[in-house]
Amino acid sequence: MAEDCIFCRIVRGDVPSTRVYEDDHAVAFRDINPRALVHVLVVPREHVRSVAEAPADDPAWLGRLFLAANQVAEWEGIRQSGYRLVVNTGPDAGMEVPHLHIHVIGGEPTGWFARGASLRR
Ligand code: 5GP
Ligand code: ZN
Repeated sequence: MAEDCIFCRIVRGDVPSTRVYEDDHAVAFRDINPRALVHVLVVPREHVRSVAEAPADDPAWLGRLFLAANQVAEWEGIRQSGYRLVVNTGPDAGMEVPHLHIHVIGGEPTGWFARGASLRR
């Protein structure tokens, strides 16, 4: 737990959120600024800053987060229509909250948005 981390505070329940899923490893809640009709964040209960710092000796630690994201997609009714899982990592990816999270985005067609300014013509 990091005292000053917004997602730790959401996991603890100190900051309100709309929770859509939880298990002993992960919590999922709606993004406060949704980019699509469905936009949910899946976060580990443990404060790990990014996927780059996920425990390398325990592949299930990361795997369980992705399985939680799949469960969210199922419950949100977007399993068949499709969804995008986004894991921003570090400054170039525009990561804003340094507590590992998987964005589950769907409910409508969403464009690909990875192209950086240096590739734009
Ligand atoms: P990042 O850019 O770090 O991958 O994404 C962080 C996400 O967290 C953003 O989509 C932002 O809207 C969301 N977010 C930031 N603060 C809060 C909050 O207090 N509550 C919720 N539900 N989402 C938040
Ligand atoms: Zn945290």
